[in-house]
Amino acid sequence: NQPSADKDASNKYLREFLVEFQPDQIRDHLRKFTQLPHLAGSEQNLKYAEQIQSEWQEFGLDSVEMVPYDVLLSYPNKSQPNYISIVDRLGSEVFNTSLAEPVPQGYEDVSDIVPPYSAYSAKGQPEGDLVYVNYGRTEDFFQLQREMGINVTGKIVIVRYGRIFRGNKVKNAMSAGAKGIIMFSDPADYWAAGVQPYPDGWNLPGGGAQRGNVLSLNGAGDPLTPGYPAKEYTFRLDTEDGIGLPSIPVHPIGFHDAVPLLQNMGGPIPPNNWKGGLNVSYRIGPGFTEEFRTQKVRMNIHTNNQVTRIYNVIGRIRGALEPDRYVILGGHRDAWVFGGIDPMSGAAVVHETVRSAGKLLSKGWNPQRSVIFASWDAEEFGLLGSTEWAEDNAKVLQERAVAYINADSAIEGMYTLRVDCTPSLHTKKEKKDFLYTRAGTKETTGPMIEMISKLGSGSDFEAYFIRLGIAAGRARYTKNKKTERYSSYPVYHSVYETFEIVEKFYDPTFRRLQAVAQVRGGLIFLLADSQVLPLSASQYAVSLKKYAQSIAQLAQKHPQEMERFGVSFDFLFSAVENFTLAATDFHKRLETINTVRVMNDQLMYLERAFIDPLGLPGRPFYRHVIFAPSSHNKYAGESFPGIYDALFDIENSSDPQESWKEVKRQISIAAFTVNAAAMTLTPPA
Ligand code: GLU
Ligand code: ASP
Ligand code: CA
Ligand code: ZN
Ligand code: ZN
Repeated sequence: NQPSADKDASNKYLREFLVEFQPDQIRDHLRKFTQLPHLAGSEQNLKYAEQIQSEWQEFGLDSVEMVPYDVLLSYPNKSQPNYISIVDRLGSEVFNTSLAEPVPQGYEDVSDIVPPYSAYSAKGQPEGDLVYVNYGRTEDFFQLQREMGINVTGKIVIVRYGRIFRGNKVKNAMSAGAKGIIMFSDPADYWAAGVQPYPDGWNLPGGGAQRGNVLSLNGAGDPLTPGYPAKEYTFRLDTEDGIGLPSIPVHPIGFHDAVPLLQNMGGPIPPNNWKGGLNVSYRIGPGFTEEFRTQKVRMNIHTNNQVTRIYNVIGRIRGALEPDRYVILGGHRDAWVFGGIDPMSGAAVVHETVRSAGKLLSKGWNPQRSVIFASWDAEEFGLLGSTEWAEDNAKVLQERAVAYINADSAIEGMYTLRVDCTPSLHTKKEKKDFLYTRAGTKETTGPMIEMISKLGSGSDFEAYFIRLGIAAGRARYTKNKKTERYSSYPVYHSVYETFEIVEKFYDPTFRRLQAVAQVRGGLIFLLADSQVLPLSASQYAVSLKKYAQSIAQLAQKHPQEMERFGVSFDFLFSAVENFTLAATDFHKRLETINTVRVMNDQLMYLERAFIDPLGLPGRPFYRHVIFAPSSHNKYAGESFPGIYDALFDIENSSDPQESWKEVKRQISIAAFTVNAAAMTLTPPA
């Protein structure tokens, strides 16, 4: 085992590493990288990449390279703006939505602010009646079609933002037959009570709207080069065949513009939980009331898809003892506009982490393993930079990557710390206390709530965790969960995400960002410099048991069918039992044995063991058998996703026999995989 002197030295370096994180420095990094818009593919985003490269070099990393890819991006047409109209009987536009958000004070002279748009929207000018479908979730469409008996074929759907990833709303609207979809920010979801709109507070002004991509990529990365890095020589699909591109026009609006569209709608009165916070009836439609019957809605969308060069910045520290083991800290740099919160609050934290690591290197620190720092590009366009680099380096990463820690926005609220991670990173009590006390001085945290959840997706860890099977985690400051979990924060993806909104409201002392830096940085340090990897197979066992119980319980809602089709979870439970025993045994041996590298490799490869090379049904790049982004909400994680999807809505299946057969197949895949993973924990000989 490690001589205790080394352990003491490592602990001393850890303390020095963490106290080096300084609020003022983080503030300076944030201000520096939020002065100008830096959309993926823009000149400014390349300039920031070059600046990051040269500063990381100065901070003292061993190497920093710029890694370009040519991927499909999507921009509004500068000479033909996107907007939505109400047209009268003669086709004249009687109302038009705004072409831009009112620019915040101090930024009036800034050019290149991209107006709110839905990236990768289809082009077109569909005209028709509106149907309001609440949040546009699967359950909302079920309610609309099955309970209210309303068909949206040939209609334009209008839904409020929030609860789920917007790409799922668009997919649902397409599947239901809509010919266009409008998404609006409702005050019920994007306006906190007692808070002023920006710049006097952190609420979304009525003229603000949420940009964002509307792809259904299912982990593919660049839509034109699925599976392979988007280099110059790479074969590309024709744009029409690109992965996940919506086939209908899509456009986002703020709540000022939503009122004229919603206020004259006719049709049924909505259920109570479909009513938002505007002073309108939220009637379902289709179309307007009798009085306005002749008026229609027309979308005018001219957005173009375009292959564009993007740039990741990759910095490295060479590990002293195990240079072939990589610990990765990655977060995106591209922003919709200034990126005050998303992503630069995270990028500023990474910058400070690199600065502090550099300082430590200059004091003689030599981490045991290699550390890789990444500034990803084009995350907002579907996690493109991180996924292309994962494709480019897949072989090396699957052999050598120990863990990936994500560094997107470091704040989405002011209340407490939020951690989502793989079960093997669920920390033991001492480590948890360490993390929480790091994040938890009185000024910086709310109650020390234990909030470790499953990873979903919607940020750059996806390819590393779900496709490659690398242990992964993320941590940030969050709001009180009483507010909606996946609705983000009010000004999300608007022009009002400025440096000032962080400085004035979210983190005036920059101590929340400091705390997040210490948690993310502390994790990286422990993963890179602990002699025994801080990963726990036993914690995985605990989670597997919980997930197995919950999926079996879901199936138990259909006792007759389970009986009739002979569906049993026994093999899954027995696999979990085997895994639990193997994990317990493994950790017992770990305490006595001196073949540390062998056992560290078992810990590292444990996550890899959950990868099924065939992928989940219809989602070849989602290959993790235990976790996948929910098929109904990319932001949410689903456990045993293969079984879950097979069971979903099975009561309405047109062929129950086939459907239950698929459930059985998925249970057997899960049982096999858990057993196979257990085998990797047993002694090698
Ligand atoms: N984080 C971005 C968003 O939520 C991109 C997510 C994704 O494409 O998965 O809009
Ligand atoms: N801020 C989002 C998240 O981390 C991702 C993004 O929009 O970039 O969930
Ligand atoms: Ca690719
Ligand atoms: Zn982000
Ligand atoms: Zn974003």
